[in-house]
Order: sequence, then structure tokens, then C-alpha cells
Amino acid sequence: MTLETSIEFLKNIGTERAKLIKNVLGISTVEDLLTFYPIRYIDKSKIYKIGALTKEPDADIQLRGKITDIQEVVYEKGKKRLSAKFRDETGTMDLVWFRYTNWMKEAIPLNKDIFIFGKVSFFNGNFSMSHPEIEADEKKAISGTLLPVYSGSEKLSKRGISNKFFQNVIYSLLKDLPNLISENLPNYLMKSLKLMDRINAYYDIHFPKNFRQFEEADRRLKFEEAFFFQLGYGLKKLHQKTKSFGNPFPIVGDYFNNFYENNLPFELTNAQKRVLKEIRTDMKRSTQMNRLLQGDVGSGKTMVALLTMLIAMDNGFQSCLMAPTEILAQQHFNSIQELLENTGIKVRLLTGSSKTKERKIIHEELENGELSIMIGTHAILEDKVKFKNLGLAIIDEQHRFGVAQRAKLWAKNNIPPHILVMTATPIPRTLAMSFYSDLDVSVIDELPANRKPIITAHRREKDRLSVYNFCREEIEKGRQIYFVYPLIEESETLDYKNLMEGLESVMNFFKSYNVTMVHGRMKPAEKDINMQFFASGQAQIMVATTVIEVGVNVPNASVMVIESSERFGLSQLHQLRGRVGRGAEQSYCILMSDDKLSKESRTRIKTMVQTNDGFKISEVDMELRGPGDILGTQQSGVVDFKKLSLIEDSAIIKTSKLAVEKILEQDSLLNHPDHQMMKQYYIRQYKGKNKWAQIS
Ligand code: ADP
Ligand code: MG
Repeated sequence: MTLETSIEFLKNIGTERAKLIKNVLGISTVEDLLTFYPIRYIDKSKIYKIGALTKEPDADIQLRGKITDIQEVVYEKGKKRLSAKFRDETGTMDLVWFRYTNWMKEAIPLNKDIFIFGKVSFFNGNFSMSHPEIEADEKKAISGTLLPVYSGSEKLSKRGISNKFFQNVIYSLLKDLPNLISENLPNYLMKSLKLMDRINAYYDIHFPKNFRQFEEADRRLKFEEAFFFQLGYGLKKLHQKTKSFGNPFPIVGDYFNNFYENNLPFELTNAQKRVLKEIRTDMKRSTQMNRLLQGDVGSGKTMVALLTMLIAMDNGFQSCLMAPTEILAQQHFNSIQELLENTGIKVRLLTGSSKTKERKIIHEELENGELSIMIGTHAILEDKVKFKNLGLAIIDEQHRFGVAQRAKLWAKNNIPPHILVMTATPIPRTLAMSFYSDLDVSVIDELPANRKPIITAHRREKDRLSVYNFCREEIEKGRQIYFVYPLIEESETLDYKNLMEGLESVMNFFKSYNVTMVHGRMKPAEKDINMQFFASGQAQIMVATTVIEVGVNVPNASVMVIESSERFGLSQLHQLRGRVGRGAEQSYCILMSDDKLSKESRTRIKTMVQTNDGFKISEVDMELRGPGDILGTQQSGVVDFKKLSLIEDSAIIKTSKLAVEKILEQDSLLNHPDHQMMKQYYIRQYKGKNKWAQIS
């Protein structure tokens, strides 16, 4: 037997059950089974006292005492239940059976010293347990270990695959453990970090003797996951660092200084200053900068981008700033052109819709070096676009640019340009700092001081009239309103119908105002006209689908009403909310929803109401959806951990990162004898999964 052996060959499983287990739980090999970790444990080693219970315990518990006063009670016409008292030396609780036979009733031992086990609930000032397990034999009642509970499904237990079944199968597997797995961490590391060895960890995670032992095993297995993940990234980073030379930008000169002293329209926030310093330090070196700049919507990334481009100019290099959509590129172009108005520095815009004549000029000016700052879309990546000496490329909204496109940028210069990637979709700090090791990370964690936080409220259908009235008051103060509808799949007829009904309802109520609409089914020209109608203030209300998520900037809009908000994801809600709060006025976000909400929707809405902090929101989002989703499909699978939680285990992640850094510093090829087991494990585990982290 090996780790790859299919579970159908294990004793007591067989083809049928193996198929079922694979379908329901995705477990197909011995290794899958070993890493099918319990979700909790039954603790039969401890005897609880009734008098010491203060609230409902989280798990099933065991008590020792006597059953007295059994009686049948008719509680509804034709329905009986069996009630009893259970006493220990500290108190009394009720026992209840709703399903029982006469035989069972007779078998309940009265006034005898026994153990009962089950879930305790607290009701009307009384503790009670329904359908307790009863055991008279002390030896059987008190087991030496905690018993694992596996997250089987209803479906499985109906088909005869119970928790007990998994306990048995895994228990017998564990006997073979020394033949199946071997240690994969260096001995000295385990010693210095007081980590349990691997074989014991597997044993103890399934059948720990006590909770301390469980915690030790848990820590060891989490560490292992974090460690090998870090090792993968560490190796990749090493590989990159040795390859990518960069152009050093040693000076800050007149372009930067003149702008900073004469044209800066506001004082930079401390976060902006700090980030600029980090960028400066990177670009001074003769290795390529590869930096991710995270900052919430409105945190002022554009200014950082511009100042960075001015430094490139001071060092005699060209820069480009790329945005994922034409609207965004145009917006950047407008604001940067305005900022540079009095400096004499030329900027140009290149997008898919640039005219041929204009393109020709741009191509020429880029090649002869006349143009230093270029703004555009993917159009910049085209082979025809050649630079004289591209020294810096800034990418706004990294999520929409793939690795391949980044690589294309590199090729625009002999020595690859410094790269700055900016994103407003915050990646949780723990995740970014620890796992994005191929990019260095800067964070703008502060908004400009004059901002008023957006007030967010949750409202339901019954509140609609008061929501509309509130919107009317805002309009009367001169503000504008968005109503956003979900159109998840733009072709979904039902969504479309809802949107149209929504439009009608809004138009009916707001008869004396102008209402305009944009949605994904419209032609671009029509969209533009309607958008313009709103942006210019001619329309007071915009009814829209999520097409407005990116790129709309109407500072006078102060209310964002999101319809059926329970259907939006958290980051989408946050992005939508970011469309208001851009001016000096107090802004509002109103989340409309159904009365009935799933637990997850409730969490999402509650989070939005409680905080404006994009980082906090992304952390909750990650907890709800898992990290793979947040990082995009490209990375998913790589960060699907079995045990490790990127949020709760940040201490372990940090320790593992330090450990890996130290190892790679001293033995980057992993040739030291102490590192052989680790290397072999790494190669076996990550071969194919991690193309980027080869050991050669
Ligand atoms: P984002 O990070 O979302 O790209 P922007 O760069 O578009 O944000 O900045 C949002 C707004 O904040 C802009 O109008 C910009 O001029 C303004 N802004 C940026 N930095 C500051 C600052 N330090 N003080 C005041 N306003 C600022
Ligand atoms: Mg921006």
C-alpha cells in the first residue's frame, strides 16, 4: 500500500462504497483519507458536572449520575414523549425521548450509577438532553482518547457509511503510517520550533489523547502546509531575482521636485509618502522593481503613479500607465493631464479607438523619445508600439492583466522596466504579505483627511417608501442617486425583467425628475449618452446594472441604492459603494434586500454596514469564499489549504516564512544533507502543481 493506493482496496471499503465516498467527499486515495481531518472531537475522557454548566456546551458531553422519575407525557393529541430526571451530586437535568419503544423504556436503568452522553441544551432555565447515549460500564464509557468526528454527509450515513466507519478505517490505516509517510521537515527546525514529528502528528490529529495533543498535532500540520508553500514561493523569487536586472534610477531631479513644490494640489497623506519612499528604494537598485500597490478606492493611487513617473523622467526614462478599460484610461489621462498642465510635460493617450493619424504621432514620439509619459489600455502592448527607453510600467487594476501580458511589457526594453501594479481590490494583508512573495507589496492604508465616511444602511421591501422619500430629500438638496440592480448574467431574462420593473417603479415615484439608465445590453454609444446625461447633472437618477462598477466618477452623486443586495458578492458591493462619497457631501449606501436571507448574505450585508475598510471587507470575503477565489482562477488550487487558515494562523505563516528564508539563504539549491527529505517531499508534492518553482 502507498499513499496513491485507491481506497477501494482497503479492508471494509470495496468498490461501491469507494465510489460513493469519492462522489460525496472527493476522497479517492489513502492520502486523501489520511488528510481527511476531523472537524471536531467527542471528549469522553471528561465527566462534566451539572452544577458547573453555565451555558450550552459546544460539543456533546458526558455526565455521571442516576436517572429517576421516568414518565410518559402526552404533549399533543396522540403524541407522547418519555421524560426523566437525571441527577448527579451537583444538580438535576431533564432527559427526553421523542422516539422510543416499550423495550427501550424498560431498558432504561433507574436509580443506578450510569454515564449519559449527548448534546445538552438550555431551555426555560433548565438544562436538558434528548436521546442520550446511556452506558453503565465505566470502562466503556470513559475512553482514553478524543474520538474524531468527520464531516460525512447525510447522504453517506443513510447509505451505511457512518462516522464510526471512518473512525475504524482511519484507525487501521494509522497502524501502517511508518510505511506510508516519512518526516519532511529538517530535524533541527523541528527542534528549534518544538514541532511534533510528522508520523505522530497524523496519529494525534485523528486520535488525540487530549486537547493539548490535538493542538500540537494541529500546529505541526499547519506549519507544514505553510512551510512548503513558502518554500515554493521562495524558490521562485530566488529564480527571478537572479535573472531580472533593472535600470537603476539613482536621482530625484527637477521634474519631480518642481512638480512637488509648485503643482501638488494637496498635501500627500502619510501613507502616500511612505509608499513613495518604498518605490524610490526599489528603483534605486539595479534589479527590476516588481511591486504591488494596494489602496482602497479613493486612496490616491493616481498621484503616486504620477510622481513615480516623474522620477523615471528625471532619470531619463519613459513610463507608461495602463488601465484595463478605455473609460479608466481616459479618466487617468484627464486627471494627469490636468495635474501636469503648468509643467510643460506632454502626456498622450493610446487606446483601441485612437485614430490612425494620432497613433502615428504617438509611435514616432515614443520611438524618438520625445514623449515621456504614455497612458493607455492594452493597446500599449501591441508590437507596433516601441519605446526608446521604457523604464517604468504601471498597471492599474492588476486583476485584469495576466502574467503573459506583464511579460509582454518586459520585452519592451532590453533591460526590463520597473513594474508597479496598482489595485483597489484589496487582498487581505496576511495573504499579500506572506504569499505574494513574487511581488513586493506596498499598502496605502489611509484615505485623504477630508473624506466623510459613507453611511451604509440595510433596508427591506417594507421600507421602500421611506427609502424613496429619503432619496427625494437628497435630490432636493441638489444631489444625484444611483439605483443598481443585479444582472449577474446579462442574458438572464428574469434579471432583465427585474431591472425594467425597477426602472418603472422609480419613474413612477420620481415623476418630476429625470431618470436615465445603463445596462450591459445597450450599444456602447447609447451607454455613453445615458451616462453623460447623468454625469452632466441633467438626470438626477441613474438606474443601472453593475456596468457602472468601474470607472464612473460623478462626485455629485451621494446615494447608492443597491437592489437585491443579497445577490452581490462583498467586493462587488464595496466597489459599488465606492461610486459615492467622492465629493464633499455626506454620502449614503442603502442595501435593499429580501426578508429572508441566508447566513452568508446576512454576514455580507452586516459587514458592509459595519465598515468602510476595504481590507476588513476583503478578509471577511476571504473567509466566506476561500482564498482561491479572491486571487483569481490563476492562483486557485495553489492556496487551497487543508488546515491552514490565512486569517487565524498568521503567526504560523510568519514563522514558516522566516524559516524558509533562512534555509534558502544558506542552501538555495537544497543540497545540504539535512535538507534532503524536505527536498524530496517538495518535489513529489509540488511537481506539476507549481511550474514556477522548479528545483533544477
Ligand atoms: P484611487 O486610489 O482610487 O485611484 P484616486 O487616485 O483616483 O484614487 O484619488 C481619488 C481622489 O482623491 C482624487 O480626486 C484625488 O485628486 C484625491 N486625492 C488623492 N490624494 C489626495 C490627498 N493626499 N489629499 C487630498 N486629496 C487627494
Ligand atoms: Mg484609480
